[in-house]
Amino acid sequence: MSKTKLQFVHHPHPSPVPADKRAELLKNPGFGRVFSDHMVTIRYHESKGWYDARIEPRAPIPMDPAAAVLHYAQEIFEGLKAYKTKDGGATMFRPTENARRFQKSADRLAMPSLPEELFVEACDLLVKTDRAWIPDGDGASLYIRPFMFANEIFLGVKPSSDYLFIVIASSVGSYFKTDAPAVSLWVSQEFTRAAPGGTGAAKCGGNYASSLLAQAEATRHGCDQVVFLDAVEQKWVEELGGMNIFFVFDDGSMVTPPLGGTILPGITRSSLLTLAKDKGIKVREDRYSIDQWRTDARSGRLREAFACGTAAVVTPIGTVRSKDGEFKIGNGGPGTQTEDLKSALVGIQRGHTADKYGWIHKVF
Ligand SMILES: *Cc1c(COP(=O)(O)O)cnc(C)c1O
Repeated sequence: MSKTKLQFVHHPHPSPVPADKRAELLKNPGFGRVFSDHMVTIRYHESKGWYDARIEPRAPIPMDPAAAVLHYAQEIFEGLKAYKTKDGGATMFRPTENARRFQKSADRLAMPSLPEELFVEACDLLVKTDRAWIPDGDGASLYIRPFMFANEIFLGVKPSSDYLFIVIASSVGSYFKTDAPAVSLWVSQEFTRAAPGGTGAAKCGGNYASSLLAQAEATRHGCDQVVFLDAVEQKWVEELGGMNIFFVFDDGSMVTPPLGGTILPGITRSSLLTLAKDKGIKVREDRYSIDQWRTDARSGRLREAFACGTAAVVTPIGTVRSKDGEFKIGNGGPGTQTEDLKSALVGIQRGHTADKYGWIHKVF
């Protein structure tokens, strides 16, 4: 692999979305439907390493129908947010953590490692170029989606010789459409998300593909999200399709399921663990069973539960439903400790509170 620094070639968009149309789109962007003008692309070939870095107009990518990803799903992704600052700049939250996790996901999927600095530089470049797409407003941000897929034209089963790394950006509001104060969960007892030795700790598209049927079942039962149990005993609460989970007890202590290969190591999860400990909250990474959850919710020992992730930030869980019936958490709405931790996190992310952890990365 070449040691000289890869230079990005700039191809500015010849006809970006006009300002008035962009303003219209940014009024109520929802999640994942409004895209900025540009994208970053970097190619990889096993004999030359990373090459051909560009920022160019966002456009469809020509693909051969025999491209490996379309057959064997060798694909990984990341998700992080850029925020507007009061002084007219932009920041991202812990992008190096995303870069590191991207390397770990790549490793698990037998893909090449993208250098951390190149990952962050690619995100920075897109945010700088498409700064006009960072929406204003409390829950709004520019969601950055880096991803990489196998691009070799070959139907044999093996790690691809070619990869394409791309970063796109989407102006987003809040993740959940509902204005409900808390989400409802469906406990999946038929399907699991990740098995020991599998890809549960990697952020790969395949994990999501296999979660969709369970999510559809949740929707059919009137629930917003699905919560998965462990694949071995079908007993221990693991996480949601795309969010980690925390439990808050009546003595203020908290529990979150431990990482161990079947749970995605969320950056929001890890940040909340740090914030909780600094607030003097007793927080354990420990297994928690669905039966205990039901018992504790009914007895009142469990006061709150919430889901967390970059997209959904911190989202209170109000109701849990399964084949065996339903139980409510607390009063079914947001709890005080959940709200407290959320504002501590969001305060740092949005620059309202001092960042003593060095989590904020200034883009410009
Ligand atoms: C991305 C993701 C999360 C949350 O991770 P963050 O780094 O907090 O955004 C949790 N679970 C799954 C399955 C995920 O894909």
